[in-house]
Amino acid sequence: MALDRPLVGEPLSLDLLDTTWMDRGSIQDLLEDHEVLSWGHTRPVVGRDGPGSVSTVDDRNRRAGWLAAVSYVELLTDDPSRIRRCAHPECVLYFYDTSPKRSRRWCSMAGCGNRAKAARHYARSRR
Ligand SMILES: [Zn+2]
Repeated sequence: MALDRPLVGEPLSLDLLDTTWMDRGSIQDLLEDHEVLSWGHTRPVVGRDGPGSVSTVDDRNRRAGWLAAVSYVELLTDDPSRIRRCAHPECVLYFYDTSPKRSRRWCSMAGCGNRAKAARHYARSRR
């Protein structure tokens, strides 16, 4: 199924971000119908270094998008509950929680984790 996607021909970096858009009041998701996934394929190989795989994408300009979609599907297949949004209220980032206890809260402890810690300290000192 061909999609009437707006903003065709934008720089690749924006194509990777713009996988969803509104069309006549309903959200369209380029990843949902796997169109993006049909741009390439992976086949198993066995070489001197052992088993592996080779990926082929029909159009090299679509390779980054295809790889991003394949990676997302792998994360969803492996354990979608580990895909989490940063707990900082001003942060919009997502991360893949690989911590043993699944307790990671921040996209970055050095960034959002420390900002939250500083905010808690400031709130306690104002009491
Ligand atoms: Zn964050």
